[in-house]
Amino acid sequence: MDFSDSPEVAEFRADLRAWLAEHLAEHADGVSYDSAEGVEATHRWHRALAAAGYVAVSLDPRYGGRGLSDLYEAVINEELAAAAAPPPPPIGHIAHAVADFASDDLKGRVLPGLLGCTESWCQGFSEPGAGSDLAGLSTTAAATDGGFVVNGQKIWTSWAMWADRCLLLCRTEPDQPRHRGLSMLVVDMDTPGITRREITLANGSREFAEVFFDDVRVPAANLVGERGQGWKIAQHMLTYERGPADMGWTGRLGNVLAAAQEAVRSGRLPADDVLRRRLAAVAVDAQVLSWHVARSLVDRESADPGSSGSIDKLLTTRVEQELYHVVDDLLGAAVVVGDQRPFSEYLWSRAQSIYGGTQQIQRQIVAQRLLGLPRG
Ligand SMILES: Cc1cc2nc3c(=O)[nH]c(=O)nc-3n(C[C@H](O)[C@H](O)[C@H](O)COP(=O)(O)OP(=O)(O)OC[C@H]3O[C@@H](n4cnc5c(N)ncnc54)[C@H](O)[C@@H]3O)c2cc1C
Repeated sequence: MDFSDSPEVAEFRADLRAWLAEHLAEHADGVSYDSAEGVEATHRWHRALAAAGYVAVSLDPRYGGRGLSDLYEAVINEELAAAAAPPPPPIGHIAHAVADFASDDLKGRVLPGLLGCTESWCQGFSEPGAGSDLAGLSTTAAATDGGFVVNGQKIWTSWAMWADRCLLLCRTEPDQPRHRGLSMLVVDMDTPGITRREITLANGSREFAEVFFDDVRVPAANLVGERGQGWKIAQHMLTYERGPADMGWTGRLGNVLAAAQEAVRSGRLPADDVLRRRLAAVAVDAQVLSWHVARSLVDRESADPGSSGSIDKLLTTRVEQELYHVVDDLLGAAVVVGDQRPFSEYLWSRAQSIYGGTQQIQRQIVAQRLLGLPRG
């Protein structure tokens, strides 16, 4: 299989490199979700990328995309990582869900803001009693004249503190079987009755919140797809969240790996035989991962990601967690008493096996949907 760039991809890559060479320095402060300034810097970076045409390029040009294949999303992730630039906005999965299911009216109203990064979004799926068992969620949206009235609570909602809109999975058909009773709504976060409460992560990031809905009115025109289609839309969206084009982590992991190799080679970080072997093993796994991601992206040229996104996520998680484990062991005590960044990155790597569905759930999806094994 030939993984080299086609002439079109090579030209796209060269343009992006030139754009980064000219504009990256303006965003040298980096981005974070630790403070109001960090969030504003993050949004500035996202808006600059969008204005230059480097956000959600696989989406329809009518709504701000460029109608390119997923491969181009991966090129963007790869080039940003190679330039040590902040990541692109993680909106591809939400954009695909809205673009593939919403009415033309709803798409026209919300996609330009999402793709242009002038409006921030969050994903309201998980609840205190429904994470892995997502179909058991209990936030309700009761149909009334002209729309819905939402009551319930979401948790672990990334970016909810700053979000303008929420893609909300909720129960509209209480008399239907669990999976068929769910619907997807676009909710404006400034609607009366919404309360957000921040949750700080162990690594200091303030990206999480709990969101409470008390008699929140949502117009019928904000229903994505049809009533009862929520589960299908959520599954579609999650395949993008788990798949390689959205994750785009391989380049960033490559940077961390290269830095660790250099530190050991130069003697800056001493490593015994065991650590050197672990570093070699993770380097091999990272190489295999990057080939796997390249192949998955080629597969996506001809089909939606489907359940194979679970394999992508499992493999990436394994490499990332082992890599940061090795880095921490190389650093020794310095990881907790020195520069806090490596420890924060290590903690973040632990979250990889939880968000978008835990690794136990990903293995179940592989067992049942890809291997055809019976339920336990
Ligand atoms: C960084 C991060 C960002 C997130 N962002 C969002 C977001 O923006 N929006 C959102 O809605 N949610 C978000 N989440 C929440 C995430 O989707 C849930 O945490 C996840 O689905 C797990 O649900 P839970 O926390 O309720 O754990 P539980 O479902 O209670 O699981 C606890 C443990 O039990 C295991 N388990 C549960 N059921 C089974 C089973 N049937 N078989 C085997 N093992 C099982 C799980 O694997 C896990 O190890 C985020 C989470 C993280 C870490």
